[in-house]
Amino acid sequence: MKISDIFAQNERTFSFEFFPPKDEISAIDFGVNVGQLMKLSPSFVSVTYGAGGSTGGRTFALVDYLQNKIGLTVMAHYTCVGASRSKVLEDIRYFRSKNIENLMLLRGDPPKGAADFAPPPDGFAHASELIALVSGEFNRLFTIGAGCYPEKHPEAETLEQDILQLKKKTDAGADFLIAQLFFDNRAYFDFVEKVRKAGIGCRVIPGIIPITSYAQLNRFFKLSGATIPGGLADKLEAAKDNPDRILRIGVDYAIEQCRGLLEGGAPGIHFYTLNKSSATVEIFETIR
Ligand SMILES: Cc1cc2nc3c(=O)[nH]c(=O)nc-3n(C[C@H](O)[C@H](O)[C@H](O)COP(=O)(O)OP(=O)(O)OC[C@H]3O[C@@H](n4cnc5c(N)ncnc54)[C@H](O)[C@@H]3O)c2cc1C
Repeated sequence: MKISDIFAQNERTFSFEFFPPKDEISAIDFGVNVGQLMKLSPSFVSVTYGAGGSTGGRTFALVDYLQNKIGLTVMAHYTCVGASRSKVLEDIRYFRSKNIENLMLLRGDPPKGAADFAPPPDGFAHASELIALVSGEFNRLFTIGAGCYPEKHPEAETLEQDILQLKKKTDAGADFLIAQLFFDNRAYFDFVEKVRKAGIGCRVIPGIIPITSYAQLNRFFKLSGATIPGGLADKLEAAKDNPDRILRIGVDYAIEQCRGLLEGGAPGIHFYTLNKSSATVEIFETIR
């Protein structure tokens, strides 16, 4: 099913993001966790794609499995790092051949060790170019999602400039946006207001990640630059040697964050599950 059809029937969607397991043990763990999450009947699920195609084969196999064996509505992530135009077209045809009707189209990050993003000679410098190609060549066969950044993309000088670039993605054919993780709802609502002023009318689905360990915090910050509100940071700092307490604080915070988002009019929640189920199950069951 196309996500645009799901939107037409539902004011809100609840979706789960997974990454392809790296080895056999993680695959077993993944199966157990997905089993728990499926009981919650998500609107759709998405599968990430490693930069430069590093998870290419595993992403392709997993989206095929979830879509065709489990019968879920799947959105395949796809990045154009290092990919030529013909490779992109070949990969998108593969998704089509596996009945995938939804794509999250991204530029991707520069490969490890490279300071800046450098497209190959016949490739793409920005996600908007990838979106324009797929949207044009496949004649709207896919619902297309794109990424957005309530606290600005790390490479953008200002949020305003980033939003101008974001508009290119929706003009090129992105049907909806999923927001990078954030912990301060004010950042999301201010961002949506600015996005609307810039003439972007589509859904902006907040992306939520539950904090489940103290060690994750640094990684989240490096990934997204997301601000951790003072009160939350203090609580986490005070409990940093108590993993159970950190988990409790993280889950309770995510529950309140999701409630605040939904009460404020957000069109659902996209959960970055990190392939774990217990925190997401508790949050989802509490908020719905
Ligand atoms: C919901 C979501 C899912 C993600 N999934 C994955 C995944 O599966 N795999 C993965 O590797 N990464 C993933 N990412 C991370 C993403 O690849 C990185 O954030 C990447 O650095 C930017 O990708 P983008 O598609 O937003 O790029 P773009 O939209 O191209 O933007 C990148 C930067 O370029 C600027 N820019 C854009 N267009 C122009 C233009 N025309 N001229 C000048 N500047 C411009 C923007 O302001 C921004 O600073 C995801 C991110 C999000 C939010």
